Amino acid sequence: MPAFDLETLLSGNRRALAKAITLVESKLDEHRLQAQGILEQVLPYSGQSIRIGITGVPGVGKSTFIESFGLYLIEQGKRVAVLAVDPSSPIAGGSILGDKTRMEELSRREEAFIRPSPSEGALGGVAQKTRETMLLCEAAGYDVILVETVGVGQSEYQVAGMVDFFMVLMLPGGGDELQGIKKGIMELADALVINKADGESEKLASLARQQYTSAMNLLRHTSFWTPQVMTCSALKKINIDAVWGMLINYYFEAHSQGAFATKRAEQNRDWMHQLVNEMLMLKLSQSEGVKQLLPEMEAGVETQRITAYAAAQKIIEQL
Ligand code: GDP
Repeated sequence: MPAFDLETLLSGNRRALAKAITLVESKLDEHRLQAQGILEQVLPYSGQSIRIGITGVPGVGKSTFIESFGLYLIEQGKRVAVLAVDPSSPIAGGSILGDKTRMEELSRREEAFIRPSPSEGALGGVAQKTRETMLLCEAAGYDVILVETVGVGQSEYQVAGMVDFFMVLMLPGGGDELQGIKKGIMELADALVINKADGESEKLASLARQQYTSAMNLLRHTSFWTPQVMTCSALKKINIDAVWGMLINYYFEAHSQGAFATKRAEQNRDWMHQLVNEMLMLKLSQSEGVKQLLPEMEAGVETQRITAYAAAQKIIEQL
């Protein structure tokens, strides 16, 4: 792999960006080391974008929305990067999210950079790589970073923890669906955007909007921002500009309240703690002493010969 040139990346060179991301995603220790060196170099040039998380059930219209929204942003003079956190992707290199064929027009644009989810590993690892990729994209001059996730399992929590604004796409036809939506997601959302508000679904969408607005009002919000509920049609490109308008409002509000920097600082701190946990777990799992002791301790707690606490302590002492 040729030497990394910071200037080339900063100039927005896509090949340089793609190469740096490949290093970040690599499992080889040597590449990881190189990637860390690159990240340290780009850190002073990162952080300038607006980071937006987008989630929603399959079929809600995430890729259609990202295509319309991305093209709209390009019209506004922005450069847009689309990343994905999709821990469920089964095949290396193949991901159900962030797939180029799903955003055909956007992927053809020079101002857009679309990268599918890192395809292997546990959620924590996938999210970690996406965070690092985000920094690289920012250094390469992307003004808006869209991070997409299907929101199965815990991925939406990971994404909410790495973005400035977390948006949940919803289907029209509130009622029943309102029951199904995870309360946890409602609490994470800075906005619920009801998609497919077009044609016959328009009425349903505005009804859903009323229902979701009341539901959201029941949640306690501690932040300066009151989560918004709006409707749009990704397909017919209706209200896409309003979604951006809302984001701009958020951005200015957050900045004027000092909340923007605080949130990012907290996210960085949490990220570090998460990494410490992961690194410790890795060290533990690699320790010969632990490998030898573990079966005995497992058997011990199963048969109640030793308390879980004492067993855990013995294992930790192996470090
Ligand atoms: P994803 O699985 O969340 O990425 O959803 P897709 O973007 O692939 O969209 C799923 C289906 O819904 C596709 O057939 C889209 O054409 C359709 N769709 C997406 N957005 C809209 C919309 O705003 N209105 C209508 N009527 N259909 C839409």
